[in-house]
Amino acid sequence: MRKQGRHFLQIPGPTNVPDRILRAMDLPTMDHRSPEFGELGLRVLNGMKTIFKCSGPVFIYPASGTGAWEAALVNTLNPGDHVLMYETGHFSTLWKSMALKIGLQPEFLQGDWRSGADANAIENRLRDDTAHDIKAVCVVHNETSTGAVTPIDQVREAIDAAGHPALLMVDTISSLASIDYRQDEWGVDVTVGGSQKGLMLPPGLSFNAVSDKALAAAKTCASMKAFWSWEDMAGPNATGFFPYTPATNLLYGLAEAIDMLHEEGLENVFARHDRHAEATRRAVQAWGLEILCSEPNHYSSSLTAVRLPEGHDADAFRKAVAENFNMSLGNGLSKLAGRVFRIGHLGDFNDLMLAGTLSGVEMGLELAAVPFERGGVQAALSYLASEARGNAGGQEAAE
Ligand SMILES: *Cc1c(COP(=O)(O)O)cnc(C)c1O
Repeated sequence: MRKQGRHFLQIPGPTNVPDRILRAMDLPTMDHRSPEFGELGLRVLNGMKTIFKCSGPVFIYPASGTGAWEAALVNTLNPGDHVLMYETGHFSTLWKSMALKIGLQPEFLQGDWRSGADANAIENRLRDDTAHDIKAVCVVHNETSTGAVTPIDQVREAIDAAGHPALLMVDTISSLASIDYRQDEWGVDVTVGGSQKGLMLPPGLSFNAVSDKALAAAKTCASMKAFWSWEDMAGPNATGFFPYTPATNLLYGLAEAIDMLHEEGLENVFARHDRHAEATRRAVQAWGLEILCSEPNHYSSSLTAVRLPEGHDADAFRKAVAENFNMSLGNGLSKLAGRVFRIGHLGDFNDLMLAGTLSGVEMGLELAAVPFERGGVQAALSYLASEARGNAGGQEAAE
């Protein structure tokens, strides 16, 4: 049956791809050995440094984020190396499982799936590692399964306080271009990113932003790799080319996305995500439901995971929303299956799209007979309106 109007894709990635990016990709694929391609290549390779806020190279893979996870590990670590990872939720667990599969020895600091990583726990573990067996610390910046952020500056401080030489690797797949991130300032050695979340692109590109220290580690790294090799990328990348056929049309879109982010201003992009997250939490609190993230300092600005009361199935609720209101919400992953739903509020998103999203949630709660208090949407609207008034006032003051 025909679905009228536009689908609300409110999962925390892939996100809504703006028309401007779709138009930018709707071009004939060019010769990836031509001079024109070299210009595009340099534009996106350099442009991505402004998004990661880094001075070192950014490598771009025609792969989902999972590929860039693997690239980070196999370019820097040797078989059997110990890596310290932190259990923030489903995605950190997948990265840990991958480390095991490729022959590393991951150690998993236990978490409760309701908060970001605890920098003190990382510091204590590193202090105990006087032999410096641990070669890397890996954390997920924004844990997409729970809606909890790890303050990366605190993890950096923890590593420094312990006087430990381990590399710091960070997954920003669902935070890059949505939540403030600073590769160089925070001393991150490898940052992993993906195209389909804050960057507003379709799935299919992923990134490694790499420090000098990580490049030095790569020189002596004996892990098996071919497709993921930074070394093979670096040569052609210097003039904007790639060692194999790049995802040309996605790169057209990436160039457009970088321009759009700078036109808005990264600080404004982050403030917009903060505002939509705050409005969403006000709605959830007014509904009398529980936000999964239990640590307010770790609240995510790109998604909010919401717990349903005992005895109510989050998937039945999501089904009611999808069937009646043509909106997709994120499901609960692995041990959170059926217990939570996730509202994605990242990417190309504005106040009225959020208002529509929250309206769909409130109607869905009613349809699925979940006990809740009315007025969540109104609480969000009042907050958004007061913030908008604030902006207008600011403009007047500036005139
Ligand atoms: C989406 C996501 C991934 C997985 O990326 P794929 O593109 O599905 O391979 C990994 N980590 C985080 C934090 C994510 O949000």
